[in-house]
Formats: sequence, structure tokens, C-alpha cells
Amino acid sequence: MISRRKMLKMLASFPLFGGIAASKMGMAASSKEASSASAERDLFEELGIETLINGRGTLTFLSGSLMQPEVVQAIESTSHEFANLYEVQDKVGERIAEMLNCEAAMVTSGAAGALTLGTAAAITGTDEEMIKKLPNISGPRREVIIQKRHRYSYDHAVRNTGVKMVEVESAREMEEAINDRTVMSLFFNAAAQFGGFEHTIGHEEFVAISKKHDIPSFIDAAADVPPPDNLFKYIDIGFDLVTFSGGKAIRGPQSSGLLYGRKDLIEAAKLNHNPHSDSIGRGMKVNKEEIFGMMVALESYLERDHEQQWEEWVGRTKTIAAEAEKVPTVTSERKVNSGPANHFPDLQLSWDQSRVQIKPEDVVKKLQEGEPRIEVSSNDEGLYITVVMMKPDQVGIVGRRVREVLSQAV
Ligand SMILES: *Cc1c(COP(=O)(O)O)cnc(C)c1O
Repeated sequence: MISRRKMLKMLASFPLFGGIAASKMGMAASSKEASSASAERDLFEELGIETLINGRGTLTFLSGSLMQPEVVQAIESTSHEFANLYEVQDKVGERIAEMLNCEAAMVTSGAAGALTLGTAAAITGTDEEMIKKLPNISGPRREVIIQKRHRYSYDHAVRNTGVKMVEVESAREMEEAINDRTVMSLFFNAAAQFGGFEHTIGHEEFVAISKKHDIPSFIDAAADVPPPDNLFKYIDIGFDLVTFSGGKAIRGPQSSGLLYGRKDLIEAAKLNHNPHSDSIGRGMKVNKEEIFGMMVALESYLERDHEQQWEEWVGRTKTIAAEAEKVPTVTSERKVNSGPANHFPDLQLSWDQSRVQIKPEDVVKKLQEGEPRIEVSSNDEGLYITVVMMKPDQVGIVGRRVREVLSQAV
């Protein structure tokens, strides 16, 4: 038997349980109830947060991706002891650099954190005074060269360092724009895909011009695996810095990322990062567990059988399509995103809206409001479903729910 005092102590150690549940239960609660509650505490339920099935992909607002089990294990297994964070970052960085076949690497707070730190490194080098002053350094405002059509929301992470973005539209303009205020050139790898155009300055030419003028070139390839080869490709092309998100398809911690490339720049980026307290990156802390988690996620990603995984994803699109097509007029098409970002097999569903009388956005709403909650996208043609972030047992549920909602509109 657990004493009343012990019980109170136990309940008090769970803030909400202690406050709300204990008063509801009175002190009549059996020790059995208390212990099962502590073993399987459902925090989502406690706070009234409904979990969801993710049919939209690695969107940050949907919490990105689920960590691989081995990543959770890395986090758990490194959480019981202290270590020197500089040493953890250095040793993990060395291991990651070996895996990625490059000079140096570090773990950042996501690709966005990497964009800020990489730019900071390009500005300050190892200059201690500058590191402390950033973004208010003395002298003229520093400049980053970017193709006009590569401007995007994430260049805010670059602008955090105080730089001015200088837009160019051709190789000739790029050459002319570089001056002694220029600290870096930035290439948004998926710009052409999202913008529906060709890069006006291709990767090789962009790198060549940057090298000619001794400007570090940085490529943001945050969402650009699979294929895993992309992790190596941009270093091979000659970019000085590369970033990928840790929390997208690599399925590391959602708040982790990779920054890798030239050794002197990575060293400078580390000086601009936590745990240095007087640095622009102090607020971009990554704890030791996540640093290890990122490393293990990358190992696991590189070792995975990507062909088999692709086939599994294709199978998911077939499962959902087969269910949906039980509804009259529904047709399906597997769409493989051209990439480089989010290059996955996705599913497009369409129907004759005069027969199945529901608009795609209303199907989205019904799926969101249904049980369980399901998030998918819609477009002019119908529903657009991303299957890669579903758990295997959720695929059938999505198929069934889509069929139910569509057949109710027949
Ligand atoms: C997702 C994304 C980022 C931000 O990545 P985080 O790891 O979430 O910080 C930056 N750039 C691009 C192109 C992205 O797709």
C-alpha cells in the first residue's frame, strides 16, 4: 500500500495531475490508477491537444517529422550524464564530416539556424570583437549576393546578421555586383522548382564566380533529400557551405540541422554559436541530446534502403487510391515531385464534382474535423496527399476516411 503522503507527493510531481486530476479523483484514487497514469501519461490528451495524421509532409507547423526510433534512443541514452558541449559539438561534427565526405560539419538548430550561423561566419571569421558586435558591426553594411528569383522567406535567417541582400539576374550582373562589402553568395536550391523557372545562374557557374572573387558560396538544400546523394552533391560542385534540415526527411530532431563544408567557416560558425554567450547564435542552442540525435539520424538515413523505402511509399499511394476509387468517378494519379525539395511519390485524387458533390477544400475540412484528425492538401484538381510522413498503420485509415467523406457526397 502507498501511504497518503507518498501518494500526494507522487501526484504533486505531475503538475497537472496534481492540480486537476487529484482534486477530481479525491484521495480515493487507488495506487493502481496512479501508477498506470504515471507509466503512460498522455500529455496530448491532458492538454486537450488532438494528434493528427500527417498527409501533408514535413511542414514545420505540423511538427515536421517523427524521429526515427534510434534517434529517440540516442536522445534518451545521452540524457543521463553531463558532457562538455564544445567537445560534443566537435566530436559529433568530425563524425558527420567523415560521413559526408567534407572538411567539417556542425549541428545547428535547423537549416534556418544554419543560414544565420553560416552568414555570421562569412562576416566575422574568427574576429572576436566582430562576433560580439554582430549584427551591429562597424564599417559599411555587408552584402550577400542572391539571384533575384531566389529571394524567399528563409533569407530572413541570413538578414538576421544585418546584411543587405543584393539581387542579381545574370552571371554578368553577379560579377558586377561583387565588391569589397560582399561577404557571401547564397543559392536557394529549390527556387526553380517552387518558382517554375530555370536558375538564370546555374550551380556550377554560381560557384565559379564566387570562387573567382573569393566569396564563400552557401547553398540552402534544407528539404532536398531524397535522394541521399544530394547530401554529397553540392560539396562536390564546390559550394563552401551546405545546409540540410535534420528534422525533415532525415527524421532527426525537428529542431536540428546540418551545416557543413569548409573547415575555417565551420570553425567561425561555431564561434558565433552557443555556448558562446556573447554571440548571435546563443539563442539557437542545440542540446547535447539533439546533437547526438542528429548524428544518429544521419547515420541511419545513409544506411537506409532507399529503393525499398520508395517502393513502400508507392504502395501507400496505391492503398489510398484503391479505397478512394471505390467512389464513382474518382480517379487517382501518382505524382512524383520533380524535386530537389520534397522529392516523394505523392497522390493526386480527382472526381467529377457534378456526381460527387463536394469541393476539394470541403473534403480537407471534413478530414480535419473527423476522427481521427487527418491533414491533407487540396488543389484545383482535387485532393493532394503526401504519404511519406504517415505511420504505416495510418495509411488504411486515410484511405477509408477519404472514401467515407467522398461517398457521403454522392
Ligand atoms: C524547411 C526549410 C528551411 C528551414 O529548415 P529548418 O530545419 O526547419 O530550420 C530553410 N530553407 C528551406 C529551403 C526549407 O525548405
